[in-house]
Amino acid sequence: MADCEKLQTCPFFTDQMSQMPSVASLMKTTFCHGDKTHCARYQVLMTGVPVPADLLPNDVARAQQLLSHR
Ligand code: SF4
Repeated sequence: MADCEKLQTCPFFTDQMSQMPSVASLMKTTFCHGDKTHCARYQVLMTGVPVPADLLPNDVARAQQLLSHR
């Protein structure tokens, strides 16, 4: 899998969400260096809807909720 092209600008990846470093590290491996298409942030980003700063990559339910209100 290729790295997500948003690595340089994504607040999650650039550690503005560093409260839970071990969990964040696991999610980076899974999504940012793994399958970005399963990342909640990426899914919202690709629609042009503003991504909440605190949206976690594994919170697909919240992403779907955000996208259902566009
Ligand atoms: S959190 Fe999602 S959007 Fe951000 S760099 Fe990782 S895969 Fe890409």
